[in-house]
Amino acid sequence: MKKILSVLPLIALAVFVHAQKLPRVIILATGGTIAGAGASSDRAGYTAGKIPIDQLVGSIPTVKKIAEITGEQVASVGSQDMTVDIWKKLAVRINEIFKNNEADGIVVTHGTDTQEETAYFLDLVVTSEKPVVLTGSMRPATAISADGPKNLYDAITIAIDPKSKGRGVLVSFNEGIYDAREVMKMSSTKTNAFGSPNTGAVDQAYDGTVEYYSKSERQVNPKSPVVITADTKLPRVDIVYMYADAPADEIDLLIGKKVDGIVIAGVGNGNFNKAYMDAVKRAVAAGIIVCRSSRTPSGRVVLHDEINDDELGTIVSDDLTPQKARILLMLGLTKTKDKKQLQNFFFKY
Ligand code: GLU
Repeated sequence: MKKILSVLPLIALAVFVHAQKLPRVIILATGGTIAGAGASSDRAGYTAGKIPIDQLVGSIPTVKKIAEITGEQVASVGSQDMTVDIWKKLAVRINEIFKNNEADGIVVTHGTDTQEETAYFLDLVVTSEKPVVLTGSMRPATAISADGPKNLYDAITIAIDPKSKGRGVLVSFNEGIYDAREVMKMSSTKTNAFGSPNTGAVDQAYDGTVEYYSKSERQVNPKSPVVITADTKLPRVDIVYMYADAPADEIDLLIGKKVDGIVIAGVGNGNFNKAYMDAVKRAVAAGIIVCRSSRTPSGRVVLHDEINDDELGTIVSDDLTPQKARILLMLGLTKTKDKKQLQNFFFKY
């Protein structure tokens, strides 16, 4: 009995130390404006990925009180140069980090131009329900009122908040939190660059607190439909943009290239003109999966509405933007070429 009493303080100390342990966040840096350095503080022009991750974290010293942070430089690109290979690298590393319990949450710093695409790709392939949060900035670190430090701080608070679990991949920007599936870059220059045209933000981050207001019905995580490894070969899917009086030459070019899929950024409800209609028939006859989506930022593309998809042999993107429909089609095609199953992916994810 005496022996037990003598070790009790040690056990209490161990419990206390354990309780004091800060949540662990790994930042996977890919470049973009958030890591950009400009020639002067009054210009937005910059070189991407100049600032290493440690320096970025150094700009928010108080974050050390709330999380144990480590950083890894996965890439150093402006996100217009984002590639499928970097997506795969990120996906493999994120799944590995969570499998090995190396972190409680992950923040990915990323250029804003294609951030929504990387977010949705990861949303479809990350297998853990632990938080993954993407963020970036519109102004480089050297600019007046650089928005990167605050966006990074908010992303870390979101990544360590237990309420963020099981919500799929999130994008944190300008104090708004957005579902990967819904988010879109809405302004090419302003600091409130992101929005979710169909659903709005799911949350706001403010003063280090996070409060969720809604949850997506299309939650993928953690039931990833596709397993990504470094060797996964993703099929080629291209996007063709429809406009008034558009010739359909690009579709014929892609048929010649033997692509696996074509997403049409159609007008309105995924519509296209007669020249496109004929070219789409040729693409379908060549065994290419053609998905109708819309260049209109909100709303849906409805199956068999103005166009009879069964007759034409097309599928629809539902409410995914063309750039996200491309990603779902690429991943879907690694599982099946069956149009019905592919269409179901678009109604499920
Ligand atoms: N084009 C750059 C990128 O997407 C700059 C945009 C940004 O990060 O804000 O990385």
